[in-house]
Amino acid sequence: MASYQEIRQMWSDIGMNLEKHDEFLNSFPGVYKRIIQPQEGRPDNMDYFNKVVTSVHGRRPYELFQHKQKGGKVFGTYCVYVPDEVLLALNGVSTGLCGGDQFWVPGGEKYLPANTCPLIKSSMGSRLDRTSPFCQVADMFIGEATCDGKKKAWEILAQDVPMHIMEVPQMKREQDIQRFAEEIWHLAEKAQEVTGNKLSYETLAQSIITINNKRRALQRLNSARQSSPVPISGKDALMVIQVAFYDDPVRFAQMANILCDELEERIGQKQGPFPNQPPRIIVTGTPMALPNWKLHHLIETSGAVVVCEESCTGTRYFENLVDENSQDLEEQIMALARRYMETNCACFTPNQARTDDILRYVKEYQADGVIDYTLQFCGLYSTESYLLRKAMKKEGLPFLHIETDYSEQDSEQLRTRIEAFIEILKD
Ligand code: SF4
Ligand code: SF4
Repeated sequence: MASYQEIRQMWSDIGMNLEKHDEFLNSFPGVYKRIIQPQEGRPDNMDYFNKVVTSVHGRRPYELFQHKQKGGKVFGTYCVYVPDEVLLALNGVSTGLCGGDQFWVPGGEKYLPANTCPLIKSSMGSRLDRTSPFCQVADMFIGEATCDGKKKAWEILAQDVPMHIMEVPQMKREQDIQRFAEEIWHLAEKAQEVTGNKLSYETLAQSIITINNKRRALQRLNSARQSSPVPISGKDALMVIQVAFYDDPVRFAQMANILCDELEERIGQKQGPFPNQPPRIIVTGTPMALPNWKLHHLIETSGAVVVCEESCTGTRYFENLVDENSQDLEEQIMALARRYMETNCACFTPNQARTDDILRYVKEYQADGVIDYTLQFCGLYSTESYLLRKAMKKEGLPFLHIETDYSEQDSEQLRTRIEAFIEILKD
């Protein structure tokens, strides 16, 4: 583990704005101490994830920095459609760059219209203000053509950093899957240029197994959350999932499996942080990048527990595995395309499979209600909410739509609405 002096030297070497970053370091621990730390009945094996989060700008970025010093490359990504397997197979490391902190939003607003979603503003602010070591250490950023806000933001970002954009089809016909396979080939070509390595069947086969194992560990975590009483809070489970976007995939799977061993013991002993078995809620909607724990915190301090996230920081990230039985590189790329195109983002039309997933989760997780979470100014998810509400109503499922940003300004107003919703679930 690097010393604080070594980490600070690294921040300087990668061109961070140390003064501005010190302001971030003064505010970030407060969020963790206010939201995560005071929870009761936390599993002992959250310890590893606590450490990763509390040293988020030190420990992991330093590993990425060392990887680069040994000649490796780092790729920053913003979307769960980017196949990490290809980058890993080329000895690249991929890391999530989505901003989840209000601190970075004003920085993003210097370049973007104020009516852009906070995730995009925060992501842009963290790079353009030079206050994220993940953004500074990345050799190439991989953007994707999904929502309009991101597509236009990439054009601005491309003036500052080397970017590769993947086109993501917005329908799921066979020709769209074939087209996405071509996009994966383009990504592979670009990543080969950047890394100087050549993609092979053997390395890709290994990286498919590695990333699948990370997904398997997260699937195991979520299976544990189907039990009653639930053995882990929604806030802690979300934090583990958020860490998966940054951590080394092999170590992450190992540590998540150790946590799952403990959760399974807790299930046997009917133990958990909510012994009174409060109403169980599924959260669906837009992603919650680290350290966005706002909605989970409001729900879990208002008398309910989150048992599943139908989200890109939830089941969409890990539910489907890549077929490990491909016989050659062509088949492997096709298997990747098929797996990634199973993800149900609202940028697709139609997107009925997302509704079907939520209805299935309600049964699997014994949920009492669904809260639909949309980041402000996200036209895709807020529009899709109409059909979701209709489908939930048809099944007689309590449903609450919430639109919010990263600030705390609306928290008390939201709390009132959430408490009223939870009261309905208790009837
Ligand atoms: S919500 Fe859509 S655009 Fe955003 S990360 Fe998920 S898949 Fe990508
Ligand atoms: S939350 Fe919506 S607007 Fe924001 S990046 Fe995701 S899809 Fe785009």
